Amino acid sequence: MKKDWNLQTIGIIHSPFKQKFGIPRQSGLAPTVKATLELYPPYNHPDSVAGLSQFSHLWLSFIFHQAIAKKWNPSVRPPRLGGNKKMGVFATRSPYRANPLGLSVVKLEQVKADKKEVILHLSGIDLLDQTPIVDIKPYIKYSDCLPSAQSGFAQKKPQAVLEVVFSEYAQQKLSMIDNGETIQMVLKEVLALDPRPAYRTQDDEHSYGLVLFDLDVHWKIKKEKLIVLDLKKLS
Ligand code: SAM
Repeated sequence: MKKDWNLQTIGIIHSPFKQKFGIPRQSGLAPTVKATLELYPPYNHPDSVAGLSQFSHLWLSFIFHQAIAKKWNPSVRPPRLGGNKKMGVFATRSPYRANPLGLSVVKLEQVKADKKEVILHLSGIDLLDQTPIVDIKPYIKYSDCLPSAQSGFAQKKPQAVLEVVFSEYAQQKLSMIDNGETIQMVLKEVLALDPRPAYRTQDDEHSYGLVLFDLDVHWKIKKEKLIVLDLKKLS
C-alpha cells in the first residue's frame, strides 16, 4: 500500500492576517475580512474555474504551513476548552495534526479569470497570508449543511464578547490611513472575538499587539472593553 502522497500547491492566499495571533478560530466568524486566492500555473487556466461563480461558498483545502509539528502527538489542548483539557487530535480542528491539512468554508465574492490570471475574491476567511491552497471545491448545501449535526465541545458559535473602542490617538491615525474605515470595521470584528489566550478571560494588565494588513495594532483590555491604543505602519 502506497503511504506517501505528493500534493501540489495550486494557489496562494493573500490575506490581511500577517501572523497567527488574532486570526478567528474558524471561517465565517469575521465575515467582513476580505482575501484573494491567486491560482498558480498550470492551474490558473480560466477553464479550471468555469461554473464556479454559480456557487456562493467554497471549501478550501490548505496547508497549515506555519504549524508543522516536529513530532506526532495524538492529543491537543483546544483553546475552546480553556487550553488545559486534552482531546484526541481527530476530535478537533487543531492546526497540529498527522498531516498539516486544513479545511475552511469561505464566501466566494467574485471570480476574475482571464488568459493571464485567475483570482478568486473571498470573505470570512480564517487563513494566514501566504497559506498554500491544495484544492478548491464548491460548497453543496444539500450535503454539506446538516442543521441537526452534533458538534461535541464546539456546539455553539463563538460570540463577539468584547466591545472594541479606539483611543483618540488611534482614531486620528486611522483617519490618515487609506481605507481607514474598512480597517476599523475589520479590527472591530476580529478583536471583538477576544483573540487572547484562553486562560486570560478576566481583565488583565497586559498590552497586546497584533499585525493586521500593514499595521502593528496595540491594544489592552479594561472593564470588558478592548481599547485600541495605537496603530503603527510597518515599514
Ligand atoms: N477552518 C480550518 C480547519 O478547520 O481546518 C482552520 C481552523 S484552525 C483552528 C484556525 C487557526 O489556524 C487560525 O486561528 C490560525 O491561528 C491558524 N492558521 C491559519 N492559517 C494558518 C497557516 N497557514 N499555518 C498555520 N496556522 C494557521
